[in-house]
Amino acid sequence: MQDALHEVELLRVRLPLVAPFRTARAATFVKDALLVRVRTEAGIGWGECTAPPTPEYDGETVDGSRLALRDHLLPRAFVGAVLDDVRGANAARSALECAVLDARLRATGVSLAAWLGAARTEVDAGVAVGLTDDLDALRRVVAAYATAGYRRIKCKIEPGRDVAVLRAARAEVGPALQLAADANGTYSLDDAFRLFADVDDIGLQCVEQPCASDAIEEHAALVAQVATPVCLDETITSPVAARDALARRACDVVAVKVGRLGIEGARRVHDTCVGAGIAALAGGMLETGIGRAALLAVAALPGFTLTGDCSASERYFGIDGDLTQPFVLEAGRLRVPNGPGLGVEPIPDRLARYTVARERITRRD
Ligand SMILES: [Mg+2]
Repeated sequence: MQDALHEVELLRVRLPLVAPFRTARAATFVKDALLVRVRTEAGIGWGECTAPPTPEYDGETVDGSRLALRDHLLPRAFVGAVLDDVRGANAARSALECAVLDARLRATGVSLAAWLGAARTEVDAGVAVGLTDDLDALRRVVAAYATAGYRRIKCKIEPGRDVAVLRAARAEVGPALQLAADANGTYSLDDAFRLFADVDDIGLQCVEQPCASDAIEEHAALVAQVATPVCLDETITSPVAARDALARRACDVVAVKVGRLGIEGARRVHDTCVGAGIAALAGGMLETGIGRAALLAVAALPGFTLTGDCSASERYFGIDGDLTQPFVLEAGRLRVPNGPGLGVEPIPDRLARYTVARERITRRD
């Protein structure tokens, strides 16, 4: 049963990042996000749309998500219609799902983690390191995160900036710390084979999304022939896509993005991985504290056996720059929120400071 939806506010927020974040696909200087605040018959709830400003990552954008919500998803949601006949718009749909569920759980006093059946009270923290101008800069960044206590460091790579990056990172952190790579789908199969041959001795946790998101056959070829685990991220757009990738043995590890799959979807992909004996990790999208709370609740599920992308607020926004009370690194871990619903909400003056546009949408009979 879904609670009746009375009113929705879409808030566009822009939070300064402490440092630019560069991947093979895009550079981010400011966190540009869309928050969804719902008022349902249960009360108020929040969700965060994690689609980036530009479509290089997975085709979705924050502007497109806003329009999908305003023009297609919300009119259906207001009358209690199913949303399945709107194709795509995964990030928009996930934000709305989160907000409605948050309102329901707040009303009943249940935390999202408890509702999911996620028993962990804290999760190991991992951090993604963007592409840097040179290896000295990379070494400094990696060393700082290792010193801060992060348990896993994932380096963004692209063709031509990969093996040297990973060797420098490994030399900096030593053999014990978990190290991973993320190519964001930028390698051809031939280049990917060369990459895996060259990094075989580095002891990587995994290489995430070496080839394009729809390149299932290419990833299956890699899994069959390389030693380092292959992780899929952008490919995993739905529970069906996850089942397909697993059935075709296209990955050794699945990165589960709650911002793309939604909370129910993320749990279903998690369950599929557990059933198939495939390792999973919880992947991040530079979320503000709202999205980060959902990410941590999902990451507390037992099938996330590998350390993923759950980072402290400070890594992105500085210690006082998040929308919510900050998530703080404690001995390399982050606490899973245990308050009702997401367990966090925006701090009013921060929300006012970072909001650049807002629109209120109500049911039109
Ligand atoms: Mg990734």
